[in-house]
Amino acid sequence: MPSLSSLTAAELAAQIASGQISSRQATQACLDAIDKLNPHLNAYNSVFHDRSLKQADTADAARKNGKTGLLNGVPIAIKDNMCSSFGRTTCSSKILQNFHAPYNATVVEKLEAAGAVILGKTNLDEFAMGSSTENSAFGPAKNPWNTSCVPGGSSGGAASACAARLGFGGLGSDTGGSIRQPASLCGIVGLKPTYGLVSRYGLVAFASSLDQIGPMTRSVEDAALFLQVIAGHDPHDSTSWPAPVPDYLTTLKSPIKPGLRIGLPKEFFDVEGSEPEVKAAVLKALDWYKSQDATLVDISLPYTQYGIAAYYIIAPAEASSNLARFDGIHYGHRTPKPQDLIDLYAASRGEGFGPEVKRRIMLGTYALSSEYDDRYYLMALKVRSLIKQDFDNAFQLCDLIAGPTSPTVAFPFGSKSDNLLAMYLCDVFTVTCNIAGIPAISLPCGLSSSNLPIGLQLLGPTFSEPLLLQTAHHYESAHNWVTRKPSVCA
Ligand code: GLN
Repeated sequence: MPSLSSLTAAELAAQIASGQISSRQATQACLDAIDKLNPHLNAYNSVFHDRSLKQADTADAARKNGKTGLLNGVPIAIKDNMCSSFGRTTCSSKILQNFHAPYNATVVEKLEAAGAVILGKTNLDEFAMGSSTENSAFGPAKNPWNTSCVPGGSSGGAASACAARLGFGGLGSDTGGSIRQPASLCGIVGLKPTYGLVSRYGLVAFASSLDQIGPMTRSVEDAALFLQVIAGHDPHDSTSWPAPVPDYLTTLKSPIKPGLRIGLPKEFFDVEGSEPEVKAAVLKALDWYKSQDATLVDISLPYTQYGIAAYYIIAPAEASSNLARFDGIHYGHRTPKPQDLIDLYAASRGEGFGPEVKRRIMLGTYALSSEYDDRYYLMALKVRSLIKQDFDNAFQLCDLIAGPTSPTVAFPFGSKSDNLLAMYLCDVFTVTCNIAGIPAISLPCGLSSSNLPIGLQLLGPTFSEPLLLQTAHHYESAHNWVTRKPSVCA
C-alpha cells in the first residue's frame, strides 16, 4: 500500500470514504510533518492544531453517518490572504499581523461545507506582491527541493507546503502568476481559473480586476476536485459568473480531444533570460502531445511584449486604491503616539507596510494621478484590450496555447531581490493570462540538471477549464512527475 504522503487528495478522499483510513490519522500525520518541517520551510504562518483535529473527528463522524462532501476529511491549507473567522488573516504583512477577520471567505465556506480540514494558513509575499516570498514580513518560505532556493511567489508557502507533503494541497491566489509560478518552481500543479469562476469574496484584494483564487495540488485530478468545490456563482462577488459549474471530475477522464491543436506562441520561447533546460523540457512535453495526435501550431501573441509593462501599471494602480483602507483606523496596525490625524495615517502605514508594498502604492498613485493617467493607466488599459485580442485571434487557430510557466527554475535567495526588473520578469509568461481573464494551468514536466522542477503552462479560452484539466491530466498520467518527492521528504 502506498504511504500516506504518497497519496493525492483524491486518493485520500477515497480511502477516507471507504474507511481504510480516518481523517484523524491523516490530519495528525500532516500536523506531525508540519511540526517537523515547518520550522525549516516557513510555509505556514499559522497552524490550527486543535481545530483541525476537531474538524477531522467531525469528518469521520459524517462518514459513519453516510453524509460526506467531496473533500470529506482531507487536510489542506489556505493562503493567508483569504479571510477566515478562525485564526489570523495577515497577508504576511506587519500591518495585519494581529488581524482577526470577522467572517469566512466564500472559498473557505465552500471547502468546509465539502468536509475539508483546514490545517493552517500559508505564507506569501506581503499582500501577494512578489515572485519569491522574500517580501513576506515573517521571513521567506523555502523551496523543499532545495532550501537555499525560493519557492516562487506570491503563493510560495502554499506551494512549499503542498510539495513537502505538509497537507494535501491548498488554495492560492493569482493576480499575475502567483499560483502558477510557485507551482512550477515547487513541482506541483497550479490552476488559475477564468476570471469570475471562483468567488473573490473574502480574498484580501490586491488588484481586483486580475485577482483569482485557484487550486495548488499534487495532481491534476486534485486540481479538478478542488475546483469542483470552490467554483460557482456567489452573490457576494459582483464579478462572479452566474452559470452552473460543469462536472470537471467526469470530463477529466474523457480521452484527449480528437484533433487537438496546441498553439506555440513564439513570444513564449526564445525569450532573453529563459533557461535552455526549461525550453527543452517544455518542447519534450509538447512532443508527447504530438505523439498523441495533437497538432502543434506556430502562433504569435505580438502584444505579449507589453504584458509586463501593462501589468505593472494596472496592478499597482488597483493596489494603491485597494490598500487605502489600511489607514490605522479601520483595522490593522495603529501607530502608538500619533501627533495628529495625518500623522496617524502616515505613521501607521509607514510602519505597517514593507518596501515592495510601498513601492507599488507609490507607482500606482503616480500612474493614476491626473497629469499622468492618460500616459500610463489609460494606455495600459488599451494594451489590455490588445492583449485580449491577441488571445481571441490565437484561439481561432488553436484550442489551447502552451509554453513554459516560468523562464527559469527556482533561484537562490537574494539573487533577484536587488534587481527589480529581473524579479518582475519572472512573470513574463504568466501575466497576460490575468490581463485577458483566461484560465491557465501549470503542471510539472521535468527536472533540471540541478534537480529542480520545471513547469509546463497550458492556457485556454475563458471557461475552458474542462479541456485544460483533461489535456493536462493525460500528460500527467503518462509520466511520473507526480510521484517524485522533494529532498526534504526523503
Ligand atoms: N509576481 C507578480 C507580482 O508581484 C504576481 C503576483 C500575484 O499573482 N499575486 O505582482
